[in-house]
Amino acid sequence: MGTEDAPVCQQHAGEVRMSLRTLHSDVSAPQQVLAAYACPECGSERRLPMSTEVPRKGPGTSGAA
Ligand SMILES: [Zn+2]
Repeated sequence: MGTEDAPVCQQHAGEVRMSLRTLHSDVSAPQQVLAAYACPECGSERRLPMSTEVPRKGPGTSGAA
C-alpha cells in the first residue's frame, strides 16, 4: 500500500486528505524536513516536520512526484 501520511484538513467536517506539495529543509536542522501539505478543497496549507533518520542519503527520493 502507499504511504498515506498526509494530514486531514480540519476545515471540513469530513476527512479531506491534504496532499504533499513541497519539502523544506532547514540548514540549521538538516535532519529535519518540513513537509508542506495543501488541501485540494480549500487550499489551506499545513507544515509538518518529517524526521529523516537516514543521514547519509540524499534529499527526498521517497516518491514525492
Ligand atoms: Zn480543506
